[in-house]
Amino acid sequence: ATPTAIMVGSGLGAKRGILFKNATAIESSARIDTVVFDKTGTLTKGEPEVTEVVVDDFDHDRVLALAGALERESEHPLADAVVRYVDATDVPRLRATGFRNVTGIGALAEVDGHKVAIGNRRLMDSEGITTGDLGARRDEIASGGRTAVFVAVDGRAVAVIGIADAVRETSAAAIAALHKAGIRVAMLTGDNRATAERIAEELGIDDVIAEVLPEDKAHQVQQLQSQGRTVAMVGDGVNDSPSLVQADVGIAVGAGTDVAIEAADVVLMRSDPLDVPVALTIGRGTLRKMR
Ligand code: ADP
Ligand code: MG
Repeated sequence: ATPTAIMVGSGLGAKRGILFKNATAIESSARIDTVVFDKTGTLTKGEPEVTEVVVDDFDHDRVLALAGALERESEHPLADAVVRYVDATDVPRLRATGFRNVTGIGALAEVDGHKVAIGNRRLMDSEGITTGDLGARRDEIASGGRTAVFVAVDGRAVAVIGIADAVRETSAAAIAALHKAGIRVAMLTGDNRATAERIAEELGIDDVIAEVLPEDKAHQVQQLQSQGRTVAMVGDGVNDSPSLVQADVGIAVGAGTDVAIEAADVVLMRSDPLDVPVALTIGRGTLRKMR
């Protein structure tokens, strides 16, 4: 595009808090035919709240005390939700030792002489823990679009915690606008398939790529590119940065982590999903002026 068109484009973006880092970012935005959104913190608010604690054959308060102690050591957003919930009760505060984070699936620690594990089905599988009746409860929670994590004590699953993260007000409108522009929309998440599919359905998303480990997110974007797609990836987390780099256009949510903002070509200062179609429209407009 001409320098003038680029200047006009970046000016239009800046007015809306859409920062194109360079001319290539604007030009590449014009060619996008597929947008991949990270779920948590991008399409959702990233403010998870515990909605239910289902306990199987174990003391309820004891589960909360053990889970709270473990999650206090973790920096995961889901862990924060668990800690806030537990801290609002008057269960005793225990201390965890030997904390170990297992990226993208959960965490382990010793609490009060017990081995505690919290995470998804994959974590339970890798630890050789059977989930029994709680498996069905997990499925119920997940089909409601909430995230469900298991709590295991000494090798036995004793509870499922349901955690809800509200979708952003404009997520559905953003996806509708992308569809209007002829763009295909996918969601990429480490969360489980049922949870992701429920949210995707609510938002009108075409494709769901769920249960993706953090290190595989970039590979999933590359996969789409090898199918001939020109991909914009929208994300907020540290986990998303390799996929933001891999995408033809990486778009970071302004409220996201510095690492994601650093890795992106475009930054949405208002953290509004509607600014994704606006950014691509600015790109297209800029290209049109050049012809
Ligand atoms: P996302 O891609 O949605 O940001 P992550 O890759 O960070 O998700 O995590 C994927 C899944 O791993 C979560 O949905 C959860 O089931 C599990 N998980 C990871 N860390 C924790 C933790 N500290 N406590 C509970 N669950 C966890
Ligand atoms: Mg995220």
